[in-house]
Amino acid sequence: MRKKIIIVGAGVAAVHAIKTIREHNPSIDITVYGEEPFYPYYRLKLSKNLMGNLAEDGLLIQTKAWYETHRVNFYPGRKVVRIAPDQQTLWLADGSCDMYDSLLLANGAANNPPPLETGLAGDLYTLRTLADARRIQKRVLEKSRIVNIGGGVQGIETAWALCQHQKKVLVVEIGPRLFPNQLDEAAAAIVKKSMEAFGVQVLTDTRITKACGEQACEGVVTADGQRIDCDMVIYATGIRSNLDILEGTSIKRDRGVLVDDTMQTNIPNIYAAGDVAEYMGRVGGLWSIAMAQGKVAGSNMVHYPLFYRPVVPVTVLNAFQLGVFSMGTIVESNDTFSVIEEDIQANRYSRIFIRENRIVGAIVIGDLNRSNLLKRAIEKEVEVNGRDWTTVSVDGLLSHLRRQLERQS
Ligand SMILES: Cc1cc2nc3c(=O)[nH]c(=O)nc-3n(C[C@H](O)[C@H](O)[C@H](O)COP(=O)(O)OP(=O)(O)OC[C@H]3O[C@@H](n4cnc5c(N)ncnc54)[C@H](O)[C@@H]3O)c2cc1C
Repeated sequence: MRKKIIIVGAGVAAVHAIKTIREHNPSIDITVYGEEPFYPYYRLKLSKNLMGNLAEDGLLIQTKAWYETHRVNFYPGRKVVRIAPDQQTLWLADGSCDMYDSLLLANGAANNPPPLETGLAGDLYTLRTLADARRIQKRVLEKSRIVNIGGGVQGIETAWALCQHQKKVLVVEIGPRLFPNQLDEAAAAIVKKSMEAFGVQVLTDTRITKACGEQACEGVVTADGQRIDCDMVIYATGIRSNLDILEGTSIKRDRGVLVDDTMQTNIPNIYAAGDVAEYMGRVGGLWSIAMAQGKVAGSNMVHYPLFYRPVVPVTVLNAFQLGVFSMGTIVESNDTFSVIEEDIQANRYSRIFIRENRIVGAIVIGDLNRSNLLKRAIEKEVEVNGRDWTTVSVDGLLSHLRRQLERQS
């Protein structure tokens, strides 16, 4: 009998696993169960397109025909509810079951709600799925004052989409600045200033503890008791891996399903990739990581050894007429220093972090040509030894990197 792979979840990690499995093995059975009623789509376009075209066909990662040509038995709208690894069997929400030889958990994550005192369960919003986006798009028409809890990329992109539709938006961030893990103070200040120029208010160092209203939202309250009137609350405050289906199994998990560098779990024929997986203490939470891990899992599931090398995290934001890029380590420490060039008035900022003669991180606002070069230099671990870089300009350093990269190619 032909061997069978089942993939739970139909996101980008699943797509890259399928691609890789088929590159190596044209005949193995591949079955995919996806909870959402859609084919895998570009989830990261949801915030960018929030007020635009949300038709499924315009968002797909691969055409629907691609799954046929790759001989995938794809079942959208089918949720897996339980797994029994010792019987190599899983159960679906409709009570049916299916058996596998190898299983890939690619069932992603959900947005983690902030701890809020509220009776507004039905009138709180978040953006994780296409259905969420359509719900927000429909409901926002009758709303005018919106509070976005969370000042990360998703919250800022959502604010940008809404403010272009004449909505009054307030972004509330619990940390000391907007995307505190990806931007330093100067860069975050440029982003804040640009948002304010478009009429979006930003509150940092602020925790929302309560959403008020009976049937519909009337406002929020901060930890220090300040009441802010609004008629809609959207949260984007981090993610949590979807681990419910592991209940009752011995599959090891912490914040995500624990995997090794082949994406294998502690059960040899079960793999995990993407937002559901935790590798070396970290749940990726990024598109590029889910792609890379899906590829690694798919390859190893058909016995072509491939090892995951951690992807350096990249954040790109195009909103409020700003191009923002952040990658890798963006803090100075004993062994890391940085070269900075800034023109705050003109919204231009570059800061490049160097450790042990290698570029380990960068923040760029304004000139995204620089970011392409820096991304390549970080990924290729280009050496920058031989000079005292603390005395060299950003342009000087970039010219050096360009030459080094040309030499390497
Ligand atoms: C609005 C938004 C903007 C983003 N922007 C960026 C960005 O700019 N850059 C970036 O790098 N990343 C971004 N991300 C994150 C990125 O989209 C995710 O890291 C990526 O989608 C993870 O892919 P995945 O395949 O692991 O999981 P997912 O894309 O979450 O797919 C998992 C699928 O599994 C399904 N599923 C869950 N449980 C079950 C079950 N029990 N049975 C069957 N199916 C199940 C889910 O419904 C889902 O369809 C963004 C995310 C969002 C929501």
